[in-house]
Amino acid sequence: MAKYMVLYRSSVSAQDQMASASPEQAQEGMDMWMRWADKAGSAVVDLGSPLGGSRLVPSGADAQTGTPIGGFSVLEADSADDAVALLEGHPHLQAPGGVIEVLDFLQIPGMWRMMFPIAPEVPDENATSRDLAQAALATLVPGIANYEIVHVTLYRVHQRVAKTFRLGRVFLAGDAAHINNPLGGMGMNGGIHDALNLAQRLADVWHGKVADAALDRYDKQRRLITLEYVQKHTVQNKRNLEAREPEEQARFRNEMQRVAADLALTRDYLLRVSMIASLSRAAELG
Ligand SMILES: Cc1cc2nc3c(=O)[nH]c(=O)nc-3n(C[C@H](O)[C@H](O)[C@H](O)COP(=O)(O)OP(=O)(O)OC[C@H]3O[C@@H](n4cnc5c(N)ncnc54)[C@H](O)[C@@H]3O)c2cc1C
Repeated sequence: MAKYMVLYRSSVSAQDQMASASPEQAQEGMDMWMRWADKAGSAVVDLGSPLGGSRLVPSGADAQTGTPIGGFSVLEADSADDAVALLEGHPHLQAPGGVIEVLDFLQIPGMWRMMFPIAPEVPDENATSRDLAQAALATLVPGIANYEIVHVTLYRVHQRVAKTFRLGRVFLAGDAAHINNPLGGMGMNGGIHDALNLAQRLADVWHGKVADAALDRYDKQRRLITLEYVQKHTVQNKRNLEAREPEEQARFRNEMQRVAADLALTRDYLLRVSMIASLSRAAELG
């Protein structure tokens, strides 16, 4: 699906049209717009708004010539032709000199990160070769070849948690304390939670506000949270994405749909995967 900017141009400004319309005409105009929006359905990303009060920056610059823009909408469609078809019989075409301009949203230049599993028997030098990367990318979108590849790297997936996060005056935090697969984006975030938890305790012990034993609670809280949340969720995320059996895939999709359909379940799910819930769990652990 692509996005299209729809500009409503007409020889009379939207302000003037609105000012000269009786309340009944304004209501009828609005009803026509809503009937069109209903017909276009989910293709309408943003119904937009009438526009007026145009100013130029820098002031004094030349305004572009052409029929003035009186409003805009944003549509989604498979092609520009489909977007144009959605505008057939649009109420704006009844405005004085009304024409509609459809513009493509161009893709913002950037990079995509793609991750592919590599069989254990493939040597590292082959795994990082451009040929293997091209071959793997070709499986994603058939018909596209010769991708511009900016960077190729290899990483190993671990699921490990250190036996303790504290030994006397030595503390472990971040990947040194726990390491997990990146699915779910919990690695760095978990490390930041560690650092915040530990820094506060170190400051309190240093300033004599609490006894040294408070530092043991860093190990207790952060280690258990790592096991309960980070490891549990990342392992589950990996299993869900790796599911090959149609029944397994359907079970995962159905579960996500069940969660998405229920506001309370969605909230609970988001609190868990954003790791916010892990903070209250850590507080419970004392
Ligand atoms: C593909 C991928 C995608 C990821 N995506 C996400 C994501 O979306 N969200 C997320 O939260 N996490 C993500 N992660 C995980 C995240 O990158 C790590 O959890 C995070 O970078 C760990 O930070 P760290 O500072 O603990 O360790 P590191 O980033 O490993 O930093 C340790 C530093 O110590 C240095 N060092 C090592 N030994 C010594 C030594 N003896 N002396 C001095 N310096 C030393 C190393 O060179 C390194 O610079 C991803 C990981 C991968 C592999």
